[in-house]
Amino acid sequence: MLHALPPAPRRRFAFSARIETLLLATSLFWVLVANRSFFAGALEGRAPASGWGFAAALGLALTALNFLLLAPLATRWTVKPLLALLVVGTAFASWYIGHYGIYLDPSMMRNVVRTDWREASELFGWAMLPHLALTALLPLLVLWRWTIVRPRSWLRAATYRAASIALALAAFVGAVLAVYQPLASLMRNRTELRYLITPGNYLWSLAVVAGLDTRTATGPKRPIGVDAAPGPRFAARTRPTVLVLVVGETARAANWGLNGYARQTTPELAQLPVIAFSDVTACGTNTEVSLPCMFAPVGRRDYDEARIRGSESLLQMVARAGVGVRWRDNQSGCKGVCDGLPAEQLAGLDEGLLDGLGPWLRRVQGTQLLVLHPLGNHGPAYFRRYPAAFKRFVPACENDDLQRCTREQIVNAYDNALLYTDHVLAALVRTLQAASPQVDSALVFVSDHGESLGENNLFLHGLPYSIAPDVQKKVPMLVWLSDGFAAANGIDRDCLRRRAAEPASHDHLFHTLLALLDVHSALYDARWDLTHGCRAP
Ligand SMILES: [Zn+2]
Repeated sequence: MLHALPPAPRRRFAFSARIETLLLATSLFWVLVANRSFFAGALEGRAPASGWGFAAALGLALTALNFLLLAPLATRWTVKPLLALLVVGTAFASWYIGHYGIYLDPSMMRNVVRTDWREASELFGWAMLPHLALTALLPLLVLWRWTIVRPRSWLRAATYRAASIALALAAFVGAVLAVYQPLASLMRNRTELRYLITPGNYLWSLAVVAGLDTRTATGPKRPIGVDAAPGPRFAARTRPTVLVLVVGETARAANWGLNGYARQTTPELAQLPVIAFSDVTACGTNTEVSLPCMFAPVGRRDYDEARIRGSESLLQMVARAGVGVRWRDNQSGCKGVCDGLPAEQLAGLDEGLLDGLGPWLRRVQGTQLLVLHPLGNHGPAYFRRYPAAFKRFVPACENDDLQRCTREQIVNAYDNALLYTDHVLAALVRTLQAASPQVDSALVFVSDHGESLGENNLFLHGLPYSIAPDVQKKVPMLVWLSDGFAAANGIDRDCLRRRAAEPASHDHLFHTLLALLDVHSALYDARWDLTHGCRAP
């Protein structure tokens, strides 16, 4: 006997529609909640009357754009995992854009991809939970309760999809044409704004990074300076010679005591005969750009990321000339510049990088280049970079979430971290001084990039180079030479001190290091050597 089936109980909080409706809803949701910085930038300085129309056209164009990105990839089987992944990614992206004022361009995405967990964990905090609840959890819940309605036939599904893509394309073109003049001038004058369009920004930037890495990862790196050979002073050295290069992290010139900052953040170095360069410009605004660039023969003056990443660095080149090269790191690694050379990864605070240095100096031979890569002022948790004894500027921000602190607290914590860098560098100089009866030594310190500490509501670093403020680009740099090193290499330190008052940049590093080591090569360019004109013939 047949019974009529009881009606299915109505599920609460449930949705059902076609895939295309789901894509449209998601596209619109992102435009409304994940693009506030983009709209703020695009509408800046526009009268309210014209602003609304402009905003509406941009909103329509972005919704259509999101739809066009998703539609080719979304099938009955892929749509939910795809959207879940992008919803979470977009929620995080919009948080960091809004919170720190960053732009998700390719170099920032490279930073994100390469950041290690220890660094990244400081960027998570309770403050982001409400934002994530609204922009990730809520849409995930809707997604979970969404039943995909299947068209009756394959042909109908294909027709519907094709028609919806055509419609989105028409909406995109129509919206762009409607505001073409103001949009074109906006994109010309403020090209960086496109890196605020979420999720397009991080998807595009990830694709660029992946493409670049595939191109540069194929095969070995292109050798540079194959003619590198010891110069006459190098060949004539009878005493061990050690050049220590410290690649600083996130130290900005504006807060550097030796550069005239109102606060003395470099009390120990101020007591030592170091030569401080007062106007040094970094190659990039983040480690992933600056670090490889600093070891390349041509850096910012004709910047080409693919060429730099695809080529060997200064380190492999001088190693071929007979310099003993070592890399020591308690940070995120050498970003490829020390490939194939001895490298050590340490944990703990920066002073650990000096462990064993004294005994090593007593037995060292030949010409050595030791590169130290400390954590320095890596944010946002500046307070984790120094031991308690260096908590001298108080109150210091002791929260991973900078926005829970006042600007004064943030600057205090940042300056305390500089005090500690000052201490580590001074300890290094004293160690080299102590060994100077046996070893000729030199120290070069330069930071990789600067930092924003809340000026114009910007934090951290990594803004596109063209619009980055000086605090992210101007870095401290100093040189110290032992008497023996200066004499053996014919360097006039007073002359170098005068040179230090002139502008310099990361582009000078490659050629200056070649000169200090006395490695000769056709790649050497005297115009970029800071010691040129300060050396005895
Ligand atoms: Zn860095």
